[in-house]
Amino acid sequence: MLTDSHAHLDDARFAADREALIQRAWDSGVRRILTIGIGTGPDDMGCGIPVAEAYAWVFASVGIHPHDASKVEERHFEMMEQLAKHPKVLAIGETGLDYHYDNSPRDVQREVFRRELQLAAKLDLPVIIHTREADTDTEEILRAVGPARGVFHCFSSGPALAEAALEMGFMISFSGIVTFPSARSVAEIARNVPADRLLVETDCPYLAPVPHRGKRNEPAFVVETARFLADVRGITLEQLALETSENFTRLFSPRETA
Ligand SMILES: [Zn+2]
Ligand SMILES: [Zn+2]
Repeated sequence: MLTDSHAHLDDARFAADREALIQRAWDSGVRRILTIGIGTGPDDMGCGIPVAEAYAWVFASVGIHPHDASKVEERHFEMMEQLAKHPKVLAIGETGLDYHYDNSPRDVQREVFRRELQLAAKLDLPVIIHTREADTDTEEILRAVGPARGVFHCFSSGPALAEAALEMGFMISFSGIVTFPSARSVAEIARNVPADRLLVETDCPYLAPVPHRGKRNEPAFVVETARFLADVRGITLEQLALETSENFTRLFSPRETA
């Protein structure tokens, strides 16, 4: 039983064959997918809910990506609070800071990140954190706003942030990046994350793992990242799948629906 803890099933690149690729995921042993509700911007944060409603084993989040922080209006936080009450919505996010692309001004990114953390705390939901080249500010905001629980998704930062994330009680999720030969330092971090704090994801349609690198990514490919993580950690794929699925359940407590 594999769990893809982070997918963008609403993505336009899946429009033509969404049902088929969800079926392929099932056929590959994926038994849960969390589809991320950021869509094309804040107005679209409910995008994951229709897919989650269509499949008992697909769940959704709602959030505002740091790229879209400059598009945020006050009403979007009210929208988020309302949508988060949907039974298939398990988390707030992805939210955080992206200083690599700087698509929104950094002070605006920080303010929106704080607001999403506050809302998650109010609703008692876990947060999905996206952070890129913003290690110091991410940690500072989490410590200032905390307590929060959640996951650092698509982890590609350094060991100091990994240590801080674990110390603050967060889980760490690895995407196809960890399989790239250029990401040895990420693999080294993945080797050392405690077994009860590890998650695996695709972040599809982006970041397909080796041997699919460069292609459109999809949830079925999570098995390749899981296999790589199992090898690095010296355990079987089955054990890795079990551990990461149990961690997912513990963090997100998905309310199973018929
Ligand atoms: Zn992300
Ligand atoms: Zn994402």
